[in-house]
Amino acid sequence: MTDRLYYADSYRTTFRARVIERLTLNDSLAVVLDRTAFYPTGGGQPHDTGVLSTLPLRENGVPVLDVVAREEDRAIIHVLSHVEAGDVLSPGDQVQGEIDWSRRFDHMQQHTGQHILSQAFVQTANADTVGFHLSDDYSTIDLNRSTLNDDDVAHAESLANQIVFDNRPVIARFATPEEVADLPLRKPPTVKGSIRIVQIEDFDWAACGGTHVAHTGEVGLIKVVRSERRGDETRITFLCGQRALNHYRTLNTLTRNLAMRLTVGVEELSQTIDRMQAEARAIRKERDRLRELLLDHEAVALVAGAQVMGPVSVVCKIFESREVEEVRRLATRIAAQPGHIALLGLRGEKAQLIFARAADLSYDMRPLLQEACRMVGGGGGGGPELAQGGGPYPVRINDALQHAADMLSRQIERRREA
Ligand SMILES: [Zn+2]
Repeated sequence: MTDRLYYADSYRTTFRARVIERLTLNDSLAVVLDRTAFYPTGGGQPHDTGVLSTLPLRENGVPVLDVVAREEDRAIIHVLSHVEAGDVLSPGDQVQGEIDWSRRFDHMQQHTGQHILSQAFVQTANADTVGFHLSDDYSTIDLNRSTLNDDDVAHAESLANQIVFDNRPVIARFATPEEVADLPLRKPPTVKGSIRIVQIEDFDWAACGGTHVAHTGEVGLIKVVRSERRGDETRITFLCGQRALNHYRTLNTLTRNLAMRLTVGVEELSQTIDRMQAEARAIRKERDRLRELLLDHEAVALVAGAQVMGPVSVVCKIFESREVEEVRRLATRIAAQPGHIALLGLRGEKAQLIFARAADLSYDMRPLLQEACRMVGGGGGGGPELAQGGGPYPVRINDALQHAADMLSRQIERRREA
């Protein structure tokens, strides 16, 4: 069993101890000490990092990468960096440990903040915390209610921050089961015997083995940044202290930059974006109208230059780098003229063909298109009035279109002779 120094003093960053076991854990070298200030992953709070140095002190210590608790004998295992560990840190060695304080203090801010926020949700929304997770970027609590609205969240957040402003003492201590029975614990304890209680004066009592600040003021701002329904529960994502400041700084820079780019004040951002979106909609509408107008004119010009084959006028044309939808609309416009047929091609990475005929004609576009598509190495389909297809060989599109025009010309000739 390792004596856990952080239980009594979460502000202790250095300590002296003796190595009592050296082991391998998941291929990594690890040691157990008789006492430690390193917090092991547990209770929603991640482990500490830091260094262990043999005494007398060498130049560099051995980095501690992970810390885990071993249930069966309550030992705390310090997982070490292989490179530096070498053959130092053997059983019996005296060592000095030092934890990464900025990481630890960040965890203390988030964890005490979580206790405050959880109690605030109990008091303002009758919502109990059923899950807690503290990650590198943010923390979450899961509440056993699915109907919380923005106002509910704001009320809980306000109460939580009031508790911070009160700068109330936070005391962690061990209590006997008899004492615990008289305390208004937020959740019934899961362990038997003597229980560690974290108490926020006149506000919250919780069974917890984590590391906490001494006064609520040290938590700094508690800010809920997201609230999302997950089945019967609500997940609250929040930031405390330095993390909340960093987040505020990022958002402030972002909104200021946006406002500067739009040459308006931050307060006017929302209405400015509304206006810009309305303008963009109007411009898109006008663009679509002009595009249609342009297609009308283009169709008129193509019809004017149509090849006359007896009673039928044929527009035969190949386009480069255009949208196929636009070519299709041109074909439809040409075929809207009585007696007209459009044999249009589009030469891009592939060859695409669109054939259309006026409703007053009876020539079937499908066999013409099939034949032309076969020449560009592909196929197509459609109806007798409008057929579309293509193939992978754009270099053959001229010949394919010419072939279709010739076929059509022969059909027209044959009908005239009949
Ligand atoms: Zn806790």
